[in-house]
Amino acid sequence: MEKYLSQLNEAQLAPTIQIEGPMIVIAGAGSGKTRVLTFRIAYMMSKGIDPFNILALTFTNKAAREMKERIASIVGQSEAKNLWMGTFHSVFAKILRIEADRLGYPSNFTIYDTQDSDRLIRDIIKEMNLDKDIYKYKQVRSRISSYKNSLITVRAYFQNPELIEADTMARRPKMGDIYKEYVERCFKAGAMDFDDLLLKTNELLTRFPEVLAKYQNRFKYILVDEYQDTNHSQYLIVRALSDKFQNICVVGDDAQSIYAFRGANINNILNFQKDYHDVKVFRLEQNYRSTKNIVNAANSVIDKNQTKLDKVVWTANDDGGKIIVHRSLTDADEGRYVASTIFDNKMNHQLPNSDFAILYRTNAQSRSIEDALRKRDIPYRIYGGLSFYQRKEIKDVLSYLRLIINPKDEEALKRVINFPPRGIGQTTVDRLMVAANGYKRSIFEVMKNIDKTDVKVNSGTKRKLLDFVTLIESFQVMNQTADVFELAEYVTKTSGLIREFNKDGTPEGVTRMENIEELLNGMKDFVEGQKEIVDATGSLAEFLEDVALSTDMDNDKDDGNKVALMTIHLAKGLEFPYVYIVGLEEDLFPSAMSMNTRSELEEERRLFYVALTRAEKQAYLTYALSRYRWGKLVDSEPSRFIEEIDEEYLEIETPIEERRINPMLSADIFGDVEPNKVRFKPAKQVKLQKGTTKKTAEKYQAPTPKNLKPVASSSSGTGSPNLFDNKIAVGNKVKHNRFGTGEIIKIEGTGPDTKAEIKFQVGVKKLLLRFAKLEVI
Ligand code: ATP
Ligand code: MG
Repeated sequence: MEKYLSQLNEAQLAPTIQIEGPMIVIAGAGSGKTRVLTFRIAYMMSKGIDPFNILALTFTNKAAREMKERIASIVGQSEAKNLWMGTFHSVFAKILRIEADRLGYPSNFTIYDTQDSDRLIRDIIKEMNLDKDIYKYKQVRSRISSYKNSLITVRAYFQNPELIEADTMARRPKMGDIYKEYVERCFKAGAMDFDDLLLKTNELLTRFPEVLAKYQNRFKYILVDEYQDTNHSQYLIVRALSDKFQNICVVGDDAQSIYAFRGANINNILNFQKDYHDVKVFRLEQNYRSTKNIVNAANSVIDKNQTKLDKVVWTANDDGGKIIVHRSLTDADEGRYVASTIFDNKMNHQLPNSDFAILYRTNAQSRSIEDALRKRDIPYRIYGGLSFYQRKEIKDVLSYLRLIINPKDEEALKRVINFPPRGIGQTTVDRLMVAANGYKRSIFEVMKNIDKTDVKVNSGTKRKLLDFVTLIESFQVMNQTADVFELAEYVTKTSGLIREFNKDGTPEGVTRMENIEELLNGMKDFVEGQKEIVDATGSLAEFLEDVALSTDMDNDKDDGNKVALMTIHLAKGLEFPYVYIVGLEEDLFPSAMSMNTRSELEEERRLFYVALTRAEKQAYLTYALSRYRWGKLVDSEPSRFIEEIDEEYLEIETPIEERRINPMLSADIFGDVEPNKVRFKPAKQVKLQKGTTKKTAEKYQAPTPKNLKPVASSSSGTGSPNLFDNKIAVGNKVKHNRFGTGEIIKIEGTGPDTKAEIKFQVGVKKLLLRFAKLEVI
């Protein structure tokens, strides 16, 4: 048997070498599902299956790239190149370009990102004179998105009285009209939004049997990772494509289904066995990722969910440290705690920054964590949030580039028609838009034929409009021969963008220029990279496709040695040695917006399960007693999810704040905190009722100097939030949160290198005082 297969256990081997027929691998986190998919593809190729006939769908393009690299290392680079791998969106965007004309789209259609969709929806709401407080554009967008993902076209919408009634009840009777206008405007602009990439693929496969047959024959073998998070639209595509050969292999974990809010349907995994005949079901039980403590703790939480498939997850790994639970007074304290323990762990164990991840429920939580990391000079990278490509100046450049490829692109045109300012006012643009809607043509076409239209503009404006058309057309000519880097460099200069941003002179202006430079550098890299790919040329079209479909996870150009900050949703499928789950508070996680029904709460619990199972060696759970939310300081209680973990897997830390508030401790002990700025929470019973966690806030309020005897202020200059330095004395009784109480029997070294030998009940330990979490008693 092939040598690489020995890297799998028996349970993993079975689905890996099962090539024909429908099959599902249902297994818990870290059990090797993604590994099985990877090895299975390599195995199929080694058995002579043409990579051209294999389609693998992953959650991010980065995951696809990594899989491809791994497969290439087994079967060879040239073979692996021909595999079709990527996210649903990227794979089907490619197919849609090939087949676009059947649907009346140009093959160079633009892909609208959410910003473009939002702008268009806002315009439509305004044009229709609707109340923007009732028709909130984000809600309208998410409603349209859910229609599309359920395959409800505009026509289907108007034929469905229930939908119309639901929107009318929600005080939005014009939803259908907005939907209709939005779809028409996208079509006219030669643009598809993200949901269209799936919806139109479905349309293609149902309306054109010959197209369906073509791709069924092409993709004889289909594999899907993270199947639990497919939505209805994705489900139907997979079903249709696999219908002929039925060689479909999906892997997933119902306990990790966390995208219901975006239309993912957990039933896709639960019903898989009903959808195909003779489904082979495989289960993996051994977790290779995490320590026993982490695996057991995660199991104990997910057990509380009623809707789930029965699964066993165990590990042969070490017990590892217990999961550390830490309470802070405020969100700022929480940030400092996270930063200082990362600092300590790095120093104690010589670890790279990339070993650490900080996961949160909402993007807004990153700020206080970022502040603390910056103070300690710990490099970090935020995933999600506003991506590089959505920054204003970058979007401006990209809009020019998009117009070169598709001049009908209305959102791109509106953005740059008068930026940099060239004297084309909003009134003119409005008139052009009305005319374009009337003629059922794009704005660009109306501009180009302005003399033949009845648009009222004076001759000066007419000249300016035609100049703009000529400018774009000259770029189009250059695009026939130049690569994307050369073209973009020319466009940024000729369009006046560079001059405009340079003129600014403010620090923001400088940053904008740097970002444009970064964009150009990225293009240069891209052009170089494309040289290695068969058929690729480094053209503008290729670049725009790459940008439109890259998730933030995919743009990892950095050296990588940074602490990762991201929402839990983004962390799916990833793993890190040290994981911090922050903001574990009721109403934040579980989110206040997701506690109305049992199923919503169960989804939050699955989210917590995903978060905890990302950790390999050590997990930290943190919460704050008060936190700034929506600009106000609000009290909070620890999340129920902490309580739901079996106590035996937890280690509840003595919060450093409890010691910090001792007035005898001076600011420099904590490096960055002034004790008199520490806010105190009003006395309130903390809900967490578990062993040592059962503490009340009074304890924070009334520190008694005699039981918190600081030895001295630190001058070690490490900025580490520890209490002791070389003034500690032999004979002192101390308490350590893991070893219990003990007595100092020897001290050696000075300054930051001071070590103490302490006799604990469990034996004598030598601790570096700089890092040891000790309290004098
Ligand atoms: P998730 O549910 O989080 O997506 P998963 O089931 O896809 O997890 P993988 O990511 O494939 O799990 O595997 C988890 C970790 O365990 C990886 O680091 C992987 O390399 C390792 N691993 C899996 N199986 C084995 C094995 N048989 N021997 C050694 N390491 C393994
Ligand atoms: Mg996986």
